[in-house]
Amino acid sequence: MIEPTSMAERLAGNRYELDEELSHIEVDQEAVRRTGFGPVLVRICPAGVYSQDADGRIAVAYAACLECGTCLALAPDGVLTWHYPRGGFGVVFREG
Ligand code: SF4
Repeated sequence: MIEPTSMAERLAGNRYELDEELSHIEVDQEAVRRTGFGPVLVRICPAGVYSQDADGRIAVAYAACLECGTCLALAPDGVLTWHYPRGGFGVVFREG
């Protein structure tokens, strides 16, 4: 029988090639405030990329992004600018 694993255990097998010069995710803080989408953004990301401080500002730990596209699909227009990392960078999924 296969034992269930936690999300952290599943993510631990991935490798990340970090682009230290360019984030592939930008957040428009004013759009977050206007739409109230900050708390949702924090909750929907399976990798915990987004966090929100007491002032409502969103921080983006883009290095952990799984490139699943969930945030891009659900965010109201103008909240996010998201593109895949430049060639050679980003997540490398464990296979097998
Ligand atoms: Fe999180 Fe997926 Fe958006 Fe990356 S693409 S920030 S993993 S929700």
